[in-house]
Amino acid sequence: MDEFSQPFLSPGSRQPITGFGANFSSAVPDAVSHYPPRPFPSDFPSPHPMGRRCPAVARGDNNDIEMDSRPVKNIAESFWVSSYYIAMEIWHRGHIAVEHKGFLEANRIKHEHRFSVKHPSQIRDYIFEISEDHLAFREIMGRLAREYTYVTTFFTDDERLKADYCIIRTDCSILSSLDKANADSYYTFKAPYFSGFCSKCGTGWSQIAPFQLKREPKIGRNQFCGFGSGFELFCTSLVLGEFSSCKIGGFETWPLILEEGHEPIESLKQIMVTEVAEPAIAEDLVEHERYCQTDCPVCGQTWHAHYIRGMLPLRRTALKPNVDFQLTNEWFGNGRTARREMLISQRVVRLILENKWKGAELVPIQAV
Ligand SMILES: [Zn+2]
Repeated sequence: MDEFSQPFLSPGSRQPITGFGANFSSAVPDAVSHYPPRPFPSDFPSPHPMGRRCPAVARGDNNDIEMDSRPVKNIAESFWVSSYYIAMEIWHRGHIAVEHKGFLEANRIKHEHRFSVKHPSQIRDYIFEISEDHLAFREIMGRLAREYTYVTTFFTDDERLKADYCIIRTDCSILSSLDKANADSYYTFKAPYFSGFCSKCGTGWSQIAPFQLKREPKIGRNQFCGFGSGFELFCTSLVLGEFSSCKIGGFETWPLILEEGHEPIESLKQIMVTEVAEPAIAEDLVEHERYCQTDCPVCGQTWHAHYIRGMLPLRRTALKPNVDFQLTNEWFGNGRTARREMLISQRVVRLILENKWKGAELVPIQAV
């Protein structure tokens, strides 16, 4: 097995963890030692060519910040990445002061300027994107001196196919199909659609009624869609037919109702997962730079930070073995984004990828 074939472990499973040094918290894992830069083939012009497709961080772990919504579905589509990278990449996006411009340019780190609000002709700072594999990653972390970065992990389809389970979320939103009253209920997790919502941490809710739409949504070539919050999963009859013939289990379907006429929409149904795993987070393997958990003083539930750096490690014995859909016992996020994650089996992942069904984002987890 060469180094490109090595299984890529979660950050938490790599030892030892050391600090960045004087300019950075010693609690922060040394990402460079965790993710050593891979050697570049001699015929390759540059470790990080500026023309390379560079992922934008769309989902920060701050619940309300979406820095950039440029879609990057699969980084492996880049010829360079697909040729030489077969493991996940962890990207950071952040702001850095103008004095570091020369450093960004010298190291060919993708960046763009941001103008000052007060003085519109002056550059306020630079927004940069960098992979933890980049040779200058350690230095830029030091220069940032603990300034926050937004992290996104990009996985390859090979990793998705090899994982025992993937989290499934949708990346096709039909939120505009909800009228204002229904959108308000959706956003506040209150009646008529939800009950049990903790006003402090957002956990504990359950959906109690089918969603009503003001019109039949247009989803183009997508087979999956949702409202953009990552917990509801709608899919087409084509997908449900395939699930049925493959005896995919662990869910029931709810209709989506048209407000006018109160008829169910024929083309889409909601997948309602009926199975819930036991508490499964492998505490000894999680990474601690971005991940944490908090006990809610109001409802007593524990909510977990969204796991954004690497693969979420879950105990295999806590997961239900013979179902294709299940929810995590744990709630992730807080406030508006709190939810259980929806896990799908390797069989479902294979169906989605082999059929090239669009509209679903698959995030592999590490079953240990
Ligand atoms: Zn709570």
